[in-house]
Amino acid sequence: MSVKALRATFGPNCHWCGLPMDFDEPTGRPESATIEHLVDSTFGGVRSSKHRRLAHAACNHARNQFRQRAERQFEQWIAERKTSGKALPES
Ligand SMILES: [Zn+2]
Repeated sequence: MSVKALRATFGPNCHWCGLPMDFDEPTGRPESATIEHLVDSTFGGVRSSKHRRLAHAACNHARNQFRQRAERQFEQWIAERKTSGKALPES
């Protein structure tokens, strides 16, 4: 599903922030429309057109950054949990 088709289906606003996106050339600017994959194949999901939406390049990038940070924090938490050899106490 192309940017044009997604725009026709979901409109010209960003999936995340709801603000209008820039569909003009050149693409790749922060306000440019990019295709957001709502299901990540790395988690066992199947990439499907119904899970695609349009989002600002900036919003798409920020989401990826936050997700990577969360993933690293989770890995750190797992490492600490393994080191402790038992479940962390309730806080
Ligand atoms: Zn946005």
